Amino acid sequence: MAEPKTNELMEKIVSLCKRRGFVFQSSEIYGGLNGFWDYGPLGAELKRNVKELWWNTMTRQRDDVVGLEATIIMHPQIWRASGHVETFADLMSECPVTKKRVRSDQVESQTGIAYFWTGASDAEGKVCAEPFSVLIPIGKPPESARKVAAQFYELRGIKSPVVQGERSEKLENTVLYHPESGARLSEPRPFNLMFKTYVGPVESEDNVAYLRPETAQAIFAQFKNVLETSRQKVPFGIAQVGKAFRNEVTPRNFTFRSREFEQMELEFFIKPDEAVEAAHGSVAIVPSSGHPGQPQANWGWQAWHQYWVEERVKFYEGIGLSRETLGFHIQTPEELAHYARATTDILFKFPFSKKDGQGNVAGDELEGIAARSDFDLSQHERFSGKPMGVFDDELRAAWAKLDDAKKQELSQRYHAARLKYLLKSGVEQARAEKQAKENADGLAKGQYIPHVIEPSAGVDRLILALISNAYSEVTETDDKGKSETRVVMKFHPRVAPIKVAIFPLLKNKPDLVNKALAIRDLLRPNMNVFYDDGGSIGRRYARQDEAGTPFCITVDFETFEGVKDGTAAGEKDTVTIRYRDDGRQERLRISELLALLMEKIR
Ligand code: ATP
Repeated sequence: MAEPKTNELMEKIVSLCKRRGFVFQSSEIYGGLNGFWDYGPLGAELKRNVKELWWNTMTRQRDDVVGLEATIIMHPQIWRASGHVETFADLMSECPVTKKRVRSDQVESQTGIAYFWTGASDAEGKVCAEPFSVLIPIGKPPESARKVAAQFYELRGIKSPVVQGERSEKLENTVLYHPESGARLSEPRPFNLMFKTYVGPVESEDNVAYLRPETAQAIFAQFKNVLETSRQKVPFGIAQVGKAFRNEVTPRNFTFRSREFEQMELEFFIKPDEAVEAAHGSVAIVPSSGHPGQPQANWGWQAWHQYWVEERVKFYEGIGLSRETLGFHIQTPEELAHYARATTDILFKFPFSKKDGQGNVAGDELEGIAARSDFDLSQHERFSGKPMGVFDDELRAAWAKLDDAKKQELSQRYHAARLKYLLKSGVEQARAEKQAKENADGLAKGQYIPHVIEPSAGVDRLILALISNAYSEVTETDDKGKSETRVVMKFHPRVAPIKVAIFPLLKNKPDLVNKALAIRDLLRPNMNVFYDDGGSIGRRYARQDEAGTPFCITVDFETFEGVKDGTAAGEKDTVTIRYRDDGRQERLRISELLALLMEKIR
């Protein structure tokens, strides 16, 4: 079940990941399980660092975001309310010969000669009238197409079939044929991506539950509990990191599209624009590019959306993904869900990302930032029958001071938005009208259902982006003219799995070893440290370069004798620090090491 190789760089990355223990195929000893991946020692550290940085940035460093850790299996009604039971499906087509399935929208376009048959019969007079077609590359003999047709009809009970009504035609850029077998694919049909299971001992329809396909819904379902226990007020956010499961039709591109993966999601709840306008006279409009600065009380959904797009880009830049490595996709009105106001996808230019006609690479999705209106909480209010609205004193006080014209204008706008949502969600006209009126009256009393901005990122895609971005090769030639190419993983020190490696120059000199171990113990409480005394210093540097360790420290004789030159001239208790990216070496006091390294990895 090996992943098909997309290009040479991806092949090298996949092989490095296995060789150095970043990523292994799940259940490899049993042949692997398609779409499932395990993280080895270096991968586990890298992943942990990324998740911790996200959590710190999104919750601990802010006053307006709190965390949640919910279960993976939840009440199945949650997935009805969210729309996943009905609509979380990809269109899937099947190859009628190999039974392999593909996502209908992901079939590569092909040009070739298509052979068509109207049916087949066999020596016993059995007939199959089902038409069939096969596409083969131009220049390949028709026999290869007939062989596939024979397989197709044999599967339908026609032994040694004689195919009938053959004709052929050149087809250009067709997406209707299986890329491997050439057989014409079945008609696309929806395939729900949720993994099903049963809760309790009885496997009945009543006990069906789902492995969550996203972490977000638990945040909506627990919105009221979090609000009541955290002393937060809208605008505020709830963040969660955790596993999600999607039975993807065609997992591919290594870990990019997996069936089990992790998400880092924030639901940031904001006031509806009508409430902001009531309190502040108008809603701020910010430029649609660039960071809009510190949050302001008069921000509506557009400013908050722009803010979160830029905050997320800042996060990526802070861990080594420069803006040039990223791309953006702003969803068009046709792509947007009916309830969404805007969605911006942040893309990364992966080695497998496709080029457009001009040779530009847009990239593939790392994270989506969606302005989802009040859809999610409204759905849970309807499905659970529990109120999801909040009471806002500031709005109530401000509303009382508005003139009648403004009250009417805001009320009408809010009413129209609520009515649109209710009708789109299938609520019958009269009930929807009544409900929308109640909602608009509620606004005047300071009540509303919060809107939400959702930055939703995938951990595994980010790890793959960081690995792809870090991958570099250096070729060195020795004195004898022999050159060697080796890999240097240039991770940003913040995410690097190992922050610093400590080497005694020689392993048979107890003074050197003891000092190196003492330095390891000094640094260890604060960062991931690797001690290595095996092989030449050059080999040890090379091993750490491949692991992406940004700093290596060597304890040598000058540590005890004092150096004659350099920054710490003549002093004892100094070491050499070597920087991974430029190979630079410096002499440093041991007493200064911790502060220097902490500054670089923070
Ligand atoms: P795609 O269009 O690529 O299937 P999506 O738009 O369905 O992704 P979302 O539902 O918005 O994805 O999920 C948020 C994030 O979760 C994505 O940006 C991505 O980083 C991650 N993610 C989604 N599906 C997968 C998957 N199958 N494997 C790994 N990560 C995933």
